[in-house]
Amino acid sequence: MLDHGRPTRRFVLKAALGGAAGLALGAPARLLAAPQAPAAAAATVNRLTGDLFVVTVPGAANVVAHVAADGVVLVDGASAATSTALLQAVAGLPGAGAVRTLFNTHWHPEQTGSNETLGAAGAQIIAHENTRLWLTTDVKWPWNGQTFTRLPKAAQPNKTFYTTGALPSGIRYGHIPDAAHTDGDLYVYFPAQNVLAIGDALTGEGWPTVDWVSGGWIGGLFGAAQRLQTLVNDQTRIVPARGPVLSAADLKAQAEMYGTIYNRLTQLLNKGRGPSEAVAEKPTKEFDARMGNPDEFVRRAFESLWAYLSPDA
Ligand SMILES: [Zn+2]
Repeated sequence: MLDHGRPTRRFVLKAALGGAAGLALGAPARLLAAPQAPAAAAATVNRLTGDLFVVTVPGAANVVAHVAADGVVLVDGASAATSTALLQAVAGLPGAGAVRTLFNTHWHPEQTGSNETLGAAGAQIIAHENTRLWLTTDVKWPWNGQTFTRLPKAAQPNKTFYTTGALPSGIRYGHIPDAAHTDGDLYVYFPAQNVLAIGDALTGEGWPTVDWVSGGWIGGLFGAAQRLQTLVNDQTRIVPARGPVLSAADLKAQAEMYGTIYNRLTQLLNKGRGPSEAVAEKPTKEFDARMGNPDEFVRRAFESLWAYLSPDA
């Protein structure tokens, strides 16, 4: 989890008061739904710049919020269970008006839980076309039997793209075609703040989920870690969906790590080994102290080679 400490909590209180004052002065009516869900723990807010924040409900994924005169831009919307707490925290950011634009960095429910509320309120929901397609179908993960139900029409992305795009404010976004996590991963770059939001393409904490059902694979983690380095400089702050803010040096280290693991797993595959044998070989051993128990990750990563190399098998 992000560790922002007491100053952040004080900031949240101040921000909430500021938001109330803004309403009293006749700010436009908010598009956010009235809070109705059970109260969740208050979100933490990490202020990156005057107008750009990382908002995190405990236990939920990071959300990047940009506050401007023409409305709020969110990168991801947390889970449905934490959406109310998230949107309350966002409404309390200094100067925050209605959420006008919501990016889905990919289709997972940890990111798309505010789609229904914000879509119904008229927000633009931007996603890669592959993400929209995943959200229009039911998905089942064979490794644990977990099923995901398609979103209602109003909750689906209403503006999709294939390669890159930009908002009138200058915020840029683009596909991460390596399929590190899913085949619809996108980044959002805030040039004025030099901040890059990357969703789950890479994580800031622990091993990632390799969702090979929706196209993610170990080679994509390696590829994305390389590609994202071309979008940043030494001052860029990189915000993943999970864990603390990353730097360009972190991307470089992750590229080396995933490159090493990719090579080892490919060699095991070429020797005819299977996922359990790959786990037993401990192909991540020098990284485990920092990254945690790798078994689930290695199993999925190995399976992802099968899925990638023979997608119709
Ligand atoms: Zn995800």
